[in-house]
Amino acid sequence: MASPIEYLKGVGPLRADMLKKELGIFTFQDLLEHFPNRHIDKTKVSRIAEITPQTEFIQVAATLVQLEVIGEKRARRLIGVVKDQSGILELTWFQGIQWVQKNLQVGSTYLIFGRTGFFNGKPQIVHPEIELYVPTMAGGKNYLEPVYPTTEKLKVRGLNGRQLGKLTQLLLTQLKESDIPENIPDDICKRLKLMPRHEAYQKVHFPASQQDYELALRRLKFEELFIAQVRLNLIRLQRQKASRGVVFEKVGDYFNTFYNKYLPFELTGAQKRVLKEIRTDTARGHQMNRLLQGDVGSGKTIVALLSMLLAADNGFQSCLMAPTEILAQQHFTGLSSLLRDMPVEIAILTGSTKTAERKRILKGLLEDTIHMVVGTHAIIEEVVQFKNLGLAIVDEQHRFGVAQRAALWKKASIPPHVLVMTATPIPRTLAMTAYGDLDYSVMDELPPGRQPITTVHRYETARASVMDFVREEIAKGRQAYFIYPLIEESEKLSYEDLMQGYEQVKSFFPEPRYYISMVHGRQPAEQKDVNMQRFVTGDTQIMVSTTVIEVGVNVPNASVMVIESTEKFGLSQLHQLRGRVGRGSEKSFCILLTGSKISNEARERIKIMCATNDGFKIAEKDLELRGPGDIDGTRQSGALNFKLASIVSDKRVLEIAREEASRLLDEDIDLAMAKNLPLKSFLQLQKSKTAWGMIS
Ligand code: ADP
Ligand code: MG
Repeated sequence: MASPIEYLKGVGPLRADMLKKELGIFTFQDLLEHFPNRHIDKTKVSRIAEITPQTEFIQVAATLVQLEVIGEKRARRLIGVVKDQSGILELTWFQGIQWVQKNLQVGSTYLIFGRTGFFNGKPQIVHPEIELYVPTMAGGKNYLEPVYPTTEKLKVRGLNGRQLGKLTQLLLTQLKESDIPENIPDDICKRLKLMPRHEAYQKVHFPASQQDYELALRRLKFEELFIAQVRLNLIRLQRQKASRGVVFEKVGDYFNTFYNKYLPFELTGAQKRVLKEIRTDTARGHQMNRLLQGDVGSGKTIVALLSMLLAADNGFQSCLMAPTEILAQQHFTGLSSLLRDMPVEIAILTGSTKTAERKRILKGLLEDTIHMVVGTHAIIEEVVQFKNLGLAIVDEQHRFGVAQRAALWKKASIPPHVLVMTATPIPRTLAMTAYGDLDYSVMDELPPGRQPITTVHRYETARASVMDFVREEIAKGRQAYFIYPLIEESEKLSYEDLMQGYEQVKSFFPEPRYYISMVHGRQPAEQKDVNMQRFVTGDTQIMVSTTVIEVGVNVPNASVMVIESTEKFGLSQLHQLRGRVGRGSEKSFCILLTGSKISNEARERIKIMCATNDGFKIAEKDLELRGPGDIDGTRQSGALNFKLASIVSDKRVLEIAREEASRLLDEDIDLAMAKNLPLKSFLQLQKSKTAWGMIS
């Protein structure tokens, strides 16, 4: 199976080269895993006259009557005209013109297959699959022919979908059953009625019927998800077992004093549950690696603080890392104020910390006179050394890369416990795959007394009445946000938009009656702080900002958010932004402004935002709309590179795979039982190929 693809008959060095370059097919196995998109009944040869604008694919047998190159330079193309008894069809090639010209002969009859289109009212096929027609080749045999993804380059060089199919067929006849050994334990195959592996590979390519194909597909999708789940769970369980971790054995004075005297509110049930999980994790002597998922405003910060106090009770230092300077500052201010009557030393370390202060902090951390440090990426730098770091908390995780997390590990001889808190919920299926190697907690409960935020969609044309509404809210003593999109590719443009927006808001809300803060990415940190601080204290009633405000900022008195050019934002970003209001006891509003022309997809996003406040629901929708590849922070994970399965449309299969995997590992974590040996050897074989261990 690992044999290089050039060893297959019919694949010379030239074709092998193209297969590698164009499709990443290097080995027999790669070819076998180049799955068809669909199957077409190619036993059917149609008449040209049957083509209608609704026809998708067609196969005809027709004689080439004309072949000529027309057009110049970029418009240069090869046009072929073919004819059967019923009509005329035009074929067009934009690439590989020379090759096609050399290989086709006017007067010969060809079997032609492709996606049909209409051009100037005439049917045509661009880059068809074409080969000399042999009357016996179609008709008779009843099988579905696979359609493979291929590239234009391959198509015009004679490696079209059909040829790929021939190679695959040849390969399958050469392989023995033992070349494709079963890798799922027998009992599971039986329980789930899975098709044997070798048979599934045969039938996914060359099924006898549609049902055959679907059964093969089901088996292979399950296999893919199951193997991934076994792997991820193994990583998790083995780390739990093997990794050494510092022991937080007791709950002491810091925690208890704070809990009994200074905690400003009763914890929610979810917060209590998560704290218990953290408490259990950190007492076991193994490193905790926990992902804390909670909706915006579910109160993750206090869970972080209580965990840090737990560390302090056991003589350990802790750090809390935030993705932005504003957020770090805010955490520091909030935590310092909560801890003001506690004998705890807390410091803030960011890129803009002054040299002298920085020196003091570095020294304090090294000597353990500073117990807690809040900061940005600055904390990861090598010069930052702790005396005994026991707990590292990463807030709003998706901004941090894997390597950055790993850098934290190295800050103590025994790696500190790690708690990663997400900014917004992650869909369950994504959590199971992209973060399946972490333990995770879910906070699915908001603190009591929150009123749902009312969200509405308004067009630009209604701006004046939107402004009136904001004015009324401010008159009641509330504050408002105006948010402008920041698009990375055209930072300059968005900056200008922001400035224009600022002027516009100012014209509606002039001084001295109103004061406005503005915060954006181009400001020096100090200026950002000052503006932020003025809004926090209520000196300014309005905050005009880009998405730098997105994560974590907490101003409970703010009750209105106006989002400009809403169509430019993604769903989870909108949800995260909206989470800046509705944090106090007042009724809050979010107004989504757009121009009059927006895409259907943007309309869909806006509809969802108006319909629900539930971050978990929104995350699911986001995944459906965008697909897993685009969800923040998961791109590099590798856990999502499924060839057949999709975490969006195969949710149910994933759930089952997850259940089966954990049942199996509960029973036999070392995969030592006879029935699990085939799985074990399969995993060992694969291990060398991928870097799964690198995920966390
Ligand atoms: P997030 O999970 O988005 O980080 P925060 O930790 O910023 O949420 O908390 C949001 C707000 O809710 C803060 O003002 C916080 O003080 C408040 N809060 C957190 N937990 C509770 C609770 N159990 N009861 C009441 N208010 C709470
Ligand atoms: Mg937060």
